[in-house]
Amino acid sequence: MNCQTVKEGIDCVFMSKRGCEFNGGMCHTVIEECDGCNKIVEFPTGKYCSSAADPAAKWVRGLCNLATHIKKEEKVEALKVNPLKASKRAAGNI
Ligand code: SF4
Repeated sequence: MNCQTVKEGIDCVFMSKRGCEFNGGMCHTVIEECDGCNKIVEFPTGKYCSSAADPAAKWVRGLCNLATHIKKEEKVEALKVNPLKASKRAAGNI
């Protein structure tokens, strides 16, 4: 169904007859880390991601896996880092 909130006219899985059923009732705008990504779409209501309704959530565990402005190698390296081991390594325990 087409969005009737912030991305008006865009087909969206969260839109229903009861309105937007995404967390908060609408998509969230992109964040600073998204700058340069080709998936940013500008609407009169702001800049949004064409693939993620909540861009900040895509960056919570490191690099966004859908980002077009980050090289694949960087994404793989970011996934390889275990935060627990990294903190132990930094403390000199490994
Ligand atoms: S794909 Fe990821 S980096 Fe790109 S705009 Fe969406 S959330 Fe931001």
